[in-house]
Amino acid sequence: MKKQFYDQLAEKSLDGELLLRPQCIEILTSKDIELLPLVDAAFTVRKKHWGRDVTIHIINNVQNGQCSEDCQYCAQSRSSKAEIDIYPMKSDDEIIKEAEAAYKSGAFRYCMVFSGKGQAESRIEHLVGLIKEIKARYPIEVCVSPGFVTESQAKILKNAGLNRLNHNINTSEKYYPKICTSHPFAKRVETLNAAKNADLDICSGVIVGMGEGEEDVVDAALTLRSFKNVKSIPVNFLLPIEGNAIVKANRLTPEYCLRVLCLYRFLNPEAEIRIAAGREYHLRDLQALALYPASSLFMDGYLNAKGSSRTKTLQMIKDAGFTIKSDQSLDALIENEHNINVASKNEKIQMKRFDDLHPSFKKI
Ligand code: SF4
Repeated sequence: MKKQFYDQLAEKSLDGELLLRPQCIEILTSKDIELLPLVDAAFTVRKKHWGRDVTIHIINNVQNGQCSEDCQYCAQSRSSKAEIDIYPMKSDDEIIKEAEAAYKSGAFRYCMVFSGKGQAESRIEHLVGLIKEIKARYPIEVCVSPGFVTESQAKILKNAGLNRLNHNINTSEKYYPKICTSHPFAKRVETLNAAKNADLDICSGVIVGMGEGEEDVVDAALTLRSFKNVKSIPVNFLLPIEGNAIVKANRLTPEYCLRVLCLYRFLNPEAEIRIAAGREYHLRDLQALALYPASSLFMDGYLNAKGSSRTKTLQMIKDAGFTIKSDQSLDALIENEHNINVASKNEKIQMKRFDDLHPSFKKI
């Protein structure tokens, strides 16, 4: 494709024009559309709305496992045999300490995630106190992922100062029955509408790689766009967690993952597109390139799976020429992590030993 093609993609997106569906599919699949100019076009859009800022999120599963639902990608679901640590809601003290640690490590937003399909009224009231306490103590935004909520529950959380409510749509409406049978897609949409009516900013994302087709990836992006107030879109790439009902459905390549992120940027130009779970596993050495379409990431892991170390994530942001949205300096945070790692010898240069230098030599 000529340069003009890529320029037009960026221009259309910046003008708020919707790309035609066949073009969206082409972005995901056509070898005529080259990766680097595509990433550059997505970066033009990202730069307009986010500059070179990266918002760092730290996720805390404040309650883990034993969910009544059967979301087949989820290690906490009733259909999963994955070995996870199961626990009820953490104490306020533990949650607040972890909020402090998140703030000190440069996080812009602290996300408290609950397993289960929803929360009792008493839990919502409990959350009110917790949200107020965290916000009073630290200059950090707070997001909660509580499962399904009613409009009145969403309003209570909004009045407590909640910045954002997370509820992922995960995939297209058409494909949804293939990934979950215990509730319909419409139920998720209901929660997003409840949050919207409560004037809460919405975080809602997808999981790519569950066996869906490209049309589903496009449909999900268009659904998110249709809400108008989806401010944040975590794009997850399915992690093959042993024991889950869906483990490895699509063969994801780093290139495909980047194409998905570019498409999501074009279709939701102002959103905080987040490289979420699977960043390390599926993007591998191309992770830094993903910062060009995306403007956000999780610092050091996901719900039940570990991710990169903090040092690696911060260093990658700096090395790629980006900065972080925080009142703390990226350099100071890196220096601090470096000191911790040197002290614990994690960063010590490993010297080659005899076996490394003479690989063909067999010890008797
Ligand atoms: S409702 Fe949430 S915690 Fe429960 S199985 Fe689905 S994704 Fe997992």
